[in-house]
Amino acid sequence: MVQKKIPMRQCLGCREMFPKRELIRVVRSPEGVLSLDFKGKAPGRGAYLCGKPECLKKARKSRAIERALSVAVPEEVYDALEAQMEEQADGK
Ligand SMILES: [Zn+2]
Repeated sequence: MVQKKIPMRQCLGCREMFPKRELIRVVRSPEGVLSLDFKGKAPGRGAYLCGKPECLKKARKSRAIERALSVAVPEEVYDALEAQMEEQADGK
């Protein structure tokens, strides 16, 4: 039996593995700008969050995004990420 391989990624907040397409990608563009990439197609280096607002808060507290992407994340970027994530949650 052939099993289809699903790409799995780890959430930076809860550290659980999820299928890649169920996760929210935080991407650092080649210019060094961080944003949330809901479609998973933006160019640049990515880190993943499972979409629970607590996980973004956890990642913020533990500086997991900084470590994963080797980039400083200013407080206002975290605020923007939180706002974007809430917006996304509301839109569902
Ligand atoms: Zn999570």
